[in-house]
Amino acid sequence: DKFKSGLTKTRTNFANKVNDLVARYRKIDEDFFEELEEILIQADVGFQTVMELIDELKMEVKRRNIQDPAEVQSVISEKLVEIYSSKDDAPNTLNIQEGALTVILFVGVNGVGKTTTIGKLAHKFNSEGKKVIMAAGDTFRAGAIEQLEVWGERVGVEVIKQGEGSDPAAVMFDAIQAAKARKADILLCDTAGRLQNKVNLMKELEKVKRVIEREIPGAPHEVLLVLDATTGQNAMIQAKTFQEATNVSGIVLTKLDGTAKGGIVLAIRNELHIPVKFVGLGEQMDDLQPFDAEKYVYGLFS
Ligand code: GDP
Repeated sequence: DKFKSGLTKTRTNFANKVNDLVARYRKIDEDFFEELEEILIQADVGFQTVMELIDELKMEVKRRNIQDPAEVQSVISEKLVEIYSSKDDAPNTLNIQEGALTVILFVGVNGVGKTTTIGKLAHKFNSEGKKVIMAAGDTFRAGAIEQLEVWGERVGVEVIKQGEGSDPAAVMFDAIQAAKARKADILLCDTAGRLQNKVNLMKELEKVKRVIEREIPGAPHEVLLVLDATTGQNAMIQAKTFQEATNVSGIVLTKLDGTAKGGIVLAIRNELHIPVKFVGLGEQMDDLQPFDAEKYVYGLFS
């Protein structure tokens, strides 16, 4: 079970601490909740979300008249799922245009795993029998185009590219023409991720988006922001920056396997109101999984 093994570090950090906590306490008091609060904060659940969760827990414990700390554990799971699922202002699934071209734009800073995620998704769609094309829109980072080509060869998907330093909007234009000519189902578009020059980056994103919108009405159908789970609260700051610059429709949270602080998933959903659509649980082709709150939370405790 990929989901479960990918969460090993978080489970060890978080669930073991909760297990230890409920074993040490005989009754549920203020100290108990304070310790629980600390464990949640350390798992990067996010201050605001932790406060909400603790309030909910206190009410639920009172309402059900729970005395035994061991019983609180299942209530924690329930409430975590509830907190995640209650923000259903946007769907968890991708907006796929059946029988027409679906354009997915990927944004995010360098090193978060954007190229890898595009490669993994290309593989996923390809093995579902869909015709996929990738656009090498990161013309800025040295090696980004080649890296996408390596993925293209690995998964058997064509990459549309120009030279390093070329205009990403021009690459996008070419890619769209190619996708139309080949009657592709899915176009996956990489973009540059240099955040040092925020104004330029955002201008570039706008231009790329304008080309896509002009060539295909209604596109891009998804703008997926890729975030690295190991960067914790930094990922939250990046999310806010990109949210200001463009219409982010979903998040791909990578490297969840590499962090003990997987609580960031809940903070993103609860505080930014953007659905986490996929999580990265490793470096291989099939290490990308659709995000499922129940699987995630129960995977933590079992
Ligand atoms: P980009 O600069 O955003 O395009 O990032 P890359 O796709 O080049 O990824 C940066 C590094 O992170 C690479 O070494 C990837 O193999 C690694 N990586 C990406 N996603 C994951 C993941 O879900 N888990 C792990 N463990 N590593 C990942």
